[in-house]
Amino acid sequence: MTILRDEIRPNPKATTKRLHVVTWGCQMNVYDSARMGDVLAPHGYVPTAAPGDADLVILNTCHIRDRATEKMFSELGRLRLLKLAREAAGQTMILAVAGCVAQAEGAQILARAPYVDLVFGPQTYHRLPALLERAASGSRVLDTEFPAEEKFDFLPDEAAPQTPGGVIAFLTIQEGCDKFCSFCVVPYTRGAESSRSAAAVLAEARRLIASGARELVLLGQNVNAWHGLGLDGRDWRLDRLLRELAELPGLLRLRYTTSHPRDMNDDLIACHGEIPALMPFLHLPVQSGSDRILAAMNRRHNIALFDRLVEKLRIARPDIALSSDFIVGHPGETDADFAATLALVARTGFAMAYSFKYSPRPGTPAAQRADHVPPDIADARLQELQALLRRQQDAFNADCAGRSLDVLFTGPGRHPGQVAGRSPYLQPVHITGPVSLIGTQARVKISRAFPNSLSAGNWTDLSQPPNQERACA
Ligand code: SF4
Repeated sequence: MTILRDEIRPNPKATTKRLHVVTWGCQMNVYDSARMGDVLAPHGYVPTAAPGDADLVILNTCHIRDRATEKMFSELGRLRLLKLAREAAGQTMILAVAGCVAQAEGAQILARAPYVDLVFGPQTYHRLPALLERAASGSRVLDTEFPAEEKFDFLPDEAAPQTPGGVIAFLTIQEGCDKFCSFCVVPYTRGAESSRSAAAVLAEARRLIASGARELVLLGQNVNAWHGLGLDGRDWRLDRLLRELAELPGLLRLRYTTSHPRDMNDDLIACHGEIPALMPFLHLPVQSGSDRILAAMNRRHNIALFDRLVEKLRIARPDIALSSDFIVGHPGETDADFAATLALVARTGFAMAYSFKYSPRPGTPAAQRADHVPPDIADARLQELQALLRRQQDAFNADCAGRSLDVLFTGPGRHPGQVAGRSPYLQPVHITGPVSLIGTQARVKISRAFPNSLSAGNWTDLSQPPNQERACA
């Protein structure tokens, strides 16, 4: 199917329509939802927080979480009632399902939910105006192709992309994955790895900064596998892109997520010691502490490699803090394997981490295995791991009390007179201060640490570059 750029040009005759997007899942889905808004804005769509007022409701789904399909159908059932109410009042609502569940189960969604008008995958949202036109004319539409054209090339240039909070902005630089971990659906729902060019990334970064962003979070399913056409016509790796981005006027902070240990090369590690704007906090999923399970997961890295990476990162940037992902109870996991995971956590020390009990995803190799871990054993292991990770996170936060940290202020706090921001380690920080701090970075003295946030009394303007303090833990 050929898509013309005309399809996303502003339509001067467009009347105002209301758009409500429900977003589940990772930051990449948050980014995609915002880009859908950008694509539809020239066609007269404005956001609404009330789904009952919406001419178009998009459910942007995630396939990673447990029982994703059931949750989606349950939400669709609620939206159906709103759609019926609008129809009874002589109005319409187009109900669309997007994202990874749409990609994986598109035909089944249309079959099981006859009130859904449109199903489209993560690679085709740039086609939304044309798809909506077909849906509005009464067709039920399914588009889950992996089109040859790059969707990013079809996003409107003129619109400053909408970003959550504005001060911290997501920027997708890479999509898809070629790793095929045994438990993961991403290679099937997002397709093969593909990277945007450096010029496209830099252009979007400039637009985001011009619209108020001071911190950019580069996104990709496998972000450190990014390699794209550089400004000099050569193939660049992520380290080169980071160095270029760090030079952009107005940008205070940079992060990138999510990385694979296998793609963490020495040039990228060196960036952590040499680019002050690159925050000293890295999310590096390891999944298990057992080489036997890592092999069963098809992770393509082992524990020796992970330990070496941690050591190199801490040499390059002594104040770096780490977070990670863990899956407990992968098929075949024994008590000894799990003990190796606990040992890895204990010797590494994480500032925070995400941990989940393995749950099978249809179509993945791990789901076909016969040696599933009994649920009660997997539950007990998860609790033990989470208790250890919780203690590490508490210790990390507690150690921040009394220290001075650079905080980027992102918006008002929960209470009158408060402003809220993020520390270099992504902890929410609340202080009593003027709203004029929003969008700036200041050094604050942390007075109290809570399980998931920090608070501070004093602050000083930062005219110097971000400091390089040691990590809390
Ligand atoms: S590297 Fe990440 S995205 Fe790719 S298959 Fe493995 S878990 Fe999924």
